[in-house]
Amino acid sequence: MSEVLAPAALNAAQQQVLDQLGSTDRPNFDPALRAQLRHELDQAFEPMLEHISLEEPLFVSKRAISMVHNCEQLYVADQTEEFRWSVPIARGIVSHKAIELLVGYRGNPTPLDLVDAAIARLENDQFGPADFLRGLSEGERAELVALANDRVTTFMETFPPLERQWRPTTEARVRAEFGEGRIQLSGKIDLQLGFARGTQAGKVTIDLKTGRTHRSHMDDLRFYALIDTLKSGTPPRLLVSYYLEQGLPHTEAVTEELLWSAARRTAEAVARIVELNGGEVTPARTPGGSCSFCPLNDSCEEGIAYLTERRQLS
Ligand code: SF4
Repeated sequence: MSEVLAPAALNAAQQQVLDQLGSTDRPNFDPALRAQLRHELDQAFEPMLEHISLEEPLFVSKRAISMVHNCEQLYVADQTEEFRWSVPIARGIVSHKAIELLVGYRGNPTPLDLVDAAIARLENDQFGPADFLRGLSEGERAELVALANDRVTTFMETFPPLERQWRPTTEARVRAEFGEGRIQLSGKIDLQLGFARGTQAGKVTIDLKTGRTHRSHMDDLRFYALIDTLKSGTPPRLLVSYYLEQGLPHTEAVTEELLWSAARRTAEAVARIVELNGGEVTPARTPGGSCSFCPLNDSCEEGIAYLTERRQLS
């Protein structure tokens, strides 16, 4: 992005982000890569298709892949948990919507302007958190506004202003279908900047994160890079986990090897998901960081032992 550096004065954090995002090469990728990756995944998924109907396709998200690789029992538990909106969960979608509006908003909106506009738009949707938002008490709504405002303010303070020439897109949906739609890999990318020129990569794919850094965040982005490559043929050039609380980007340049690794990881996870969904196998329990928020952490022996040991060490 350095060739389209904005004239606006940037603070040190914004300049660091701009330098990091603009510094990597723009490699050319083999135009056959898209077909090769698709062939690899077609081959891997082929034996699974007989277990999946067209009426009930298997939707595979980064979340499901991450859970299966972290702890299979957690994945199984998550399938049966009823999803409920809450203020902390709604904070993510509201702040992402506010950042989306920032791209096209005229004038000089404040973070609160954007958050209010985001909530108003989401309340009028037919899906997502619309019912939840309309049913909030005044206190809950104020809490949601404060939480989302904090995220949007931090983003505006530490991320360079989004220039139109960068072609910013937010909440961009990506999807790849296999077996006539029986298996669908899908995701929603928080923020994308830049664009490819033919086979020369130029896009930067960004996931906005709160909380601590975690290695699985880069795996999530690799999954998105894979789907994006299956979609357009030219991969993004750079993957970025942007940690809002630190104002810091963690970056990884996209390579062919990275995409093949993401394809193998995805194929392994989907195979296991099909087995677990079919109830043919006993899910493995793998204690780790996920135990802290697992709904089974008061009954799972492995999780209880792990959390007890962690508390004693801290
Ligand atoms: S408590 Fe930990 S080990 Fe047990 S199911 Fe949950 S994530 Fe897995």
